[in-house]
Amino acid sequence: MSADEHLLLVIPPPPGTSEGARLIDADPGQPHLSVLDVAATRGDGVFETISVGAGHPQALEAHLDRFARSARMLDLPTPDRELWRTAVQTLAARLADHEEAWVKTVLTRGIEGHVEPTGWAYGTVSPTFHRERTEGIDVVLLDRGLRSDVATTSPWLLAGAKTLSYAVNRAAAREAQRRGADDVVFVSSDGLLLEGPTSTLVVRAGDTLRTPPDALGILPGTTQVDLFAAAHQWGLRTAVEPLRPADVVDADAAWLVSSVRHAAPIRSVDGVPRAVDAPMTAAMNGFLRARRT
Ligand code: PLP
Repeated sequence: MSADEHLLLVIPPPPGTSEGARLIDADPGQPHLSVLDVAATRGDGVFETISVGAGHPQALEAHLDRFARSARMLDLPTPDRELWRTAVQTLAARLADHEEAWVKTVLTRGIEGHVEPTGWAYGTVSPTFHRERTEGIDVVLLDRGLRSDVATTSPWLLAGAKTLSYAVNRAAAREAQRRGADDVVFVSSDGLLLEGPTSTLVVRAGDTLRTPPDALGILPGTTQVDLFAAAHQWGLRTAVEPLRPADVVDADAAWLVSSVRHAAPIRSVDGVPRAVDAPMTAAMNGFLRARRT
């Protein structure tokens, strides 16, 4: 364990009391999770990863909204917003000496057969993403095998919830590596661009930034929302609309954006090189890094 790792356990109230949950400091180098916790045995829970700039959690309220939304989609107890906000802010403050850090919040259904959820928040320093943010990333398009209306037809598939079941996302990333690429853009079985395994797709066509709608069963990205707000300040237009593979291949520029890596420009799609917009990428990452809320 390094000195830059911090952990807070979210302890549920004793059953039958009117007390609230509470936070306790814990040693991240020690085991805390039961082998019977459904986080470990079934991936049954939700999480958020929040970037921290010089001690300030970024897009914290949007992350707390999404944490609650994911919990609702999984029929988990509503997270105590105040408590989780405090947990993130406390860990962020401990990482204030670092320009870039992150905090992960996790809420699981708890130990099989019990009713109390398990929760914790963990924070540490971010790795460097200099190469990804400047040289760019090679992506492959992978069929997710789900239609673009999956969120409506089959809500039990939890498309668009940030669940702990990321094994599929990790498998897709390994497939990208097998194909000599860095990352993935998922495509619906009916041919619409979706998202990366841990990021949102943004493309630029002229003076318009475009991204696919959440209604396609993708995670609503907090980074994309902040970026689109900044884009308006920069005099750009934005559009949330269905995109097809040709839209990323032919775009003037394209990025995968996310909380910790921020904006990674896409420099090739399925081995076909595409232009990187270095000035706009630098502006995006400068803005995303400098956020203090
Ligand atoms: N889509 C998926 C599947 C993700 O896992 C993530 C983040 O981890 C994103 C999109 C980007 O979301 P955010 O910008 O809030 O980090």
